[in-house]
Amino acid sequence: MKAIVKARAVPGALELREVPSPTPAAHEVLIQVTKTAICGTDIHIYKWDEWAQKTIKTPQIIGHEFVGKVLEVGAGVTHIKPGQLVSGEGHIVCGGCRHCITGSLHLCRQTIGVGVNCDGVFSEYITLPASNTWICDEKISPYILSMLDPLGNATHTALAFNILGEDVLVTGAGPIGLMSIPILKRAGARNIVVTDINPARLDMAKQLGATATINVRQQSLESYLSTHSSTLNIKEGFDIGLEMSGNAAAFLDMVNAMANGGKIALLGIIPSDAPIDWNKVVFNSLTIKGIYGRQMYDTWYRMAALLQSGLDKEIEPIITHRFHYEQFDEAFACASSGESGKIILEWS
Ligand code: NAD
Ligand code: ZN
Repeated sequence: MKAIVKARAVPGALELREVPSPTPAAHEVLIQVTKTAICGTDIHIYKWDEWAQKTIKTPQIIGHEFVGKVLEVGAGVTHIKPGQLVSGEGHIVCGGCRHCITGSLHLCRQTIGVGVNCDGVFSEYITLPASNTWICDEKISPYILSMLDPLGNATHTALAFNILGEDVLVTGAGPIGLMSIPILKRAGARNIVVTDINPARLDMAKQLGATATINVRQQSLESYLSTHSSTLNIKEGFDIGLEMSGNAAAFLDMVNAMANGGKIALLGIIPSDAPIDWNKVVFNSLTIKGIYGRQMYDTWYRMAALLQSGLDKEIEPIITHRFHYEQFDEAFACASSGESGKIILEWS
């Protein structure tokens, strides 16, 4: 089969290779991949940044966002049938630790990331544990189904705290920040204020229902609030913050802009030495909650219900490009330019 492989431990070095097709073990499902989506993680691997150098063992098939058709199931699999349309949870957990046994699978310390710690899904066929395989509603567009993983990140982060009636700050209008906006609306946010440095992404945020958007390259969050807080009715700062940029300055701004008792859900992967004013956290009684992946599988159920009630149509414009998998070079150049939303690779 054909697969997109990170061939060597240098920037770039993605190759389309002929590799052996996988065969499913007793607990696994064999899937024919039909569409995949490119994630920021794939870009980190492509660019070979510090994180990628520490984490990825080459050669490795990359990618973890996909939709496909079940071709075959292992002898021990009973609830999934050949022919079903499926996506999958990209975190494979141990199943034996305290968190796994007590149903908090997303907290497993031995989590293996598909396309990160093992071969990924940018290939014609993949195997996945049946427990990680999510049966999709065939009424939803396969393009949307190929990006359930980041939509799950958005859902998990947006629903980390009670949103009803709250003023929410979202830093970063990348695909995940954008997807969080209609979810926050449905959850009952009063204001959804979104920051970014990319005008096209901020326009999209506005279309998706942001109350206000701020290009922090042109105006600081602080100065925006000093003139607009009374119109927005935000008197004491934000109740909830969703950090979705991975940018250290954005996180600092967020900490400064929170109301006392404010709660921050931190999804963005900020540099480990990023500064933070701890006195703000202490004296303003802030809560900071790290968010990793999706809650298995509560997030998946909520996301499926949201899609079935019209979220699918709302987030469709976030997909800006579609490429055949053989055009992966062009697709990765486009994704790393920042001038795109979600990019899909078509496999069949
Ligand atoms: P992305 O890189 O496409 O989006 C980040 C956005 O932040 C971009 O639009 C960028 O212009 C914007 N930005 C840059 N500087 C900014 C600033 N100073 N203020 C405000 N915005 C700024 O990423 P994405 O795919 O949407 O993911 C969002 C973040 O979440 C990334 O950091 C990603 O690595 C991280 N992530 C975390 C998990 C997890 O499980 N914790 C999973 C997936 C992604
Ligand atoms: Zn575990």
